[in-house]
Amino acid sequence: MENKNMSQNRRQFLKSSVAAATAIAIPSMPLFSQRSKKQFNTSGKMKLSWTPYDLQLNHTFTISGFSRTTTPVVLIKIGYDGLEGYGEASLPPYLGETQASVIEFLKKTDLSGFTDPGHIEEIMVYVDGIAGGNTAAKAAVDIALHDLAGKMEGAPWYKIYGLDKYNVPDTTFTIGIDSDEVVREKTREALGRFNILKVKVGGADDKRMIEAIRSVTDLPLAVDANQGWKDRHQALDMILWLKEKGVVMVEQPMPKQDLDNIARLTEESPLPVFADESIQRLSDVERMKGVFSGINIKLMKCTGMHEAWKMRKLAYGLGMKVMMGCMTETSCAISAAAQLYAGMDFADLDGALLIGNDCFKGATLENGKIIASDQPGIGVKPVKELTFGR
Ligand code: MG
Repeated sequence: MENKNMSQNRRQFLKSSVAAATAIAIPSMPLFSQRSKKQFNTSGKMKLSWTPYDLQLNHTFTISGFSRTTTPVVLIKIGYDGLEGYGEASLPPYLGETQASVIEFLKKTDLSGFTDPGHIEEIMVYVDGIAGGNTAAKAAVDIALHDLAGKMEGAPWYKIYGLDKYNVPDTTFTIGIDSDEVVREKTREALGRFNILKVKVGGADDKRMIEAIRSVTDLPLAVDANQGWKDRHQALDMILWLKEKGVVMVEQPMPKQDLDNIARLTEESPLPVFADESIQRLSDVERMKGVFSGINIKLMKCTGMHEAWKMRKLAYGLGMKVMMGCMTETSCAISAAAQLYAGMDFADLDGALLIGNDCFKGATLENGKIIASDQPGIGVKPVKELTFGR
């Protein structure tokens, strides 16, 4: 627990950082105008390099339709005037990007026309225009720019945004579809570390999975159907049953394009219903109003922190709920997400906790919450030798 002085100091700091946060919304304006030009030679060049990396999952990961034991990622580094910014593209196979496609995209990304990594808006407009799609590749660049810009400012991004890093929702911890015995074992492993569990549903095993978890714990549960329920009446029956079992929210109950049926389901559902597969980017947010109760923002879907921040503000402006999600990722991308999710309704940021070979140290699990570090930028350090190249 923090003492009163620390809390007062933080409030004072947050007050003084409102100006910086306001500047984020204004394109083509230097983000950190108070920065000393002497300290940073803004005529320097940004050097982009990368390395492919395979994440080893602690447990075989099964959602409706897929099983896998690894997730490919591409880690990137942008060097600038003696500083290094880190970023990551996580590439679960069902989303279509690969290590090869990310590297191809990065080879086309020419940052030589920009003189200051703090001009994130301007740079990301360029990056987004290189080609369509490639959202994880774009997110990697965005995250590395944020890391650099925050390091130049000497502040972690949650402070620049004006957020209280402790005012965050508990992260869910995902229990994959498995035998009762394995489900009970995974649930026992989670006890004492997490305050809410997430269950992948949407198949024939739904009730069995929930009952297996309930034989071990009464912790609240979130469920993610990953579009698995095909019929609105079946979905509502399941939601009513799940509510009785202590489930508190439902993610993507039905196929992503079936918005009319989802809207009717959300209206009848006693639990909040969140969009995941139905929503990608900022331009999708507005049409989710009246269809879902809230949206799941993931950096890999929305091209990174700059757009995630805008999605968050727009969704709250529309009266919707917001959650922060993730893929299986290292602590690099998770730490980036941890900078901007304070005040959200739900969080699913267990991605780095599901892997055995995390190569970054950053945000940490504390009392069931993912808490950003106080290091500047996105707040990460590599914990093993990574060889970045082109
Ligand atoms: Mg989901």
